[in-house]
Amino acid sequence: MRVPVTDLVGHPGETRALTRAVDPGEFGDAPWGPLVTRVTQEVALDLHLDAVVEGILVRGWIGFTVEVPCARCLEPQHVRRDVDVAELFVDPTRRTAGEDDDPGYELIDDLTAIDLTTMVRDTLVVDLPVRFLCSEACLGLCPVCGTDRNRLDCGHRPGAAPDPRWAVLAELDLPED
Ligand SMILES: [Zn+2]
Ligand SMILES: [Zn+2]
Repeated sequence: MRVPVTDLVGHPGETRALTRAVDPGEFGDAPWGPLVTRVTQEVALDLHLDAVVEGILVRGWIGFTVEVPCARCLEPQHVRRDVDVAELFVDPTRRTAGEDDDPGYELIDDLTAIDLTTMVRDTLVVDLPVRFLCSEACLGLCPVCGTDRNRLDCGHRPGAAPDPRWAVLAELDLPED
């Protein structure tokens, strides 16, 4: 997602708003990692581009909705996230020789543009929680028969699973106490 910045580069103090709803396909195929099955709506960008001496500072927020399975019952969930961002796109010509820091984001195309794709992708992936639950009270799938226990009580109880290793013990006629 290339954004021209010729009006800003070399004019520290200048600023420009960038508000846009972007089709998730612009960020590549399945850019959100294996956990997230898909981004279901446009990605909302509400950003300011600030010209600074070192390059362009991009700040604001990114809003998106992803479909991910509940970690317990696997039911797809639509999760809305709004993430604050503040990233510097540096002018690579201002980099001093021998500096081998992580280059991060840079101005491209002879300092005429920035590409927001990687920044948006990185921001969203970092923000995703490792575990999504449809509800804290989600009962999950029955470990015995796989029934979604939020929908149906299959009758199996935790600890009552007919584990074959214990079947032999159950057959012993132990005295009750
Ligand atoms: Zn669930
Ligand atoms: Zn069951």
